Amino acid sequence: VSAPDYQAILDEILDEVQLLLQQGDVANYIPRLAHVPREKFGMAVVTLDGQVFQTGDAREPFSMQSISKVYTLTLALDAIGDKLWQRVGREPSGNSFNSLVQLELENGLPRNPFINAGALVVADVVLASCADSRAQLLATIRGCTGNAQLRDDAEVALSEKAHGFRNAALANFIRSFDNLDHSIDDVLDFYFYQCSLAASCVDLARGFLFLANQGRCPWTGNALLSPDQAKRINALMLTCGTYDAAGDFAYDVGIPCKSGVGGGIVGVIPNVLAVSVWSPALNAKGNSLAGSAALERFTSKTGLSIF
Ligand code: GLU
Repeated sequence: VSAPDYQAILDEILDEVQLLLQQGDVANYIPRLAHVPREKFGMAVVTLDGQVFQTGDAREPFSMQSISKVYTLTLALDAIGDKLWQRVGREPSGNSFNSLVQLELENGLPRNPFINAGALVVADVVLASCADSRAQLLATIRGCTGNAQLRDDAEVALSEKAHGFRNAALANFIRSFDNLDHSIDDVLDFYFYQCSLAASCVDLARGFLFLANQGRCPWTGNALLSPDQAKRINALMLTCGTYDAAGDFAYDVGIPCKSGVGGGIVGVIPNVLAVSVWSPALNAKGNSLAGSAALERFTSKTGLSIF
């Protein structure tokens, strides 16, 4: 069977989403993100054999936000393996990504590594296992995106820190259950740093290809994870990667995805490709509104999904 015409499909999707770009709201609880123009839309596909397809603003960097949680989870799993699951669960939360209520009911054990509470515990594990966590995370992301210029946006991190009362509350709460070893400030600073990393759609499609390739970056040959661990991260993205809409995503899109409040979403089709999309305005569940629609169209038009 010949491969779908990815370029034609991406260009069609760019046309089809134009009206949607006026809907939804750009995240404003991190003031610095509120300034990003809602008209932006980019999409990129990178296949396992290294072909790159892109449309719209696919080369423009945006704030990764929660998409970075996949990379910190990768570092934590690589460092301590299955011991991680003694400190964080693997079930969808069914609550908003920054909910405090669930944490109290479940004694400080966050439901999964992709809600904020879980990501704070993962950040704590990374801090314990790397001499320089920021440098290690940056090197990992630069390595698998192939973009040596990729960097954080200190203004975004500061803006989030200045308004990060809820994340501070979560961290304090988890600490009260003895599920954080580092100081609240160290955990939050690393967490805000990871969220502020800026990457483009092309960077992220490249940067997630290791998850479509059994944990190994296809062009450097570098194994970030074992095939078994990559399989499990994909499973977690499918069940927990798109906030409280993971069921809808599995139904509509049908591939493992991770989204962020910067409006980016990255998806993985194991053994085939990685796809990413960016459109800043979000729907009520916090996923990019046009981005979600674009991914639904992508898997419908290509006929590719894991189901
Ligand atoms: N830095 C954001 C927060 O913690 C990330 C949220 C997200 O992208 O889901 O609120």
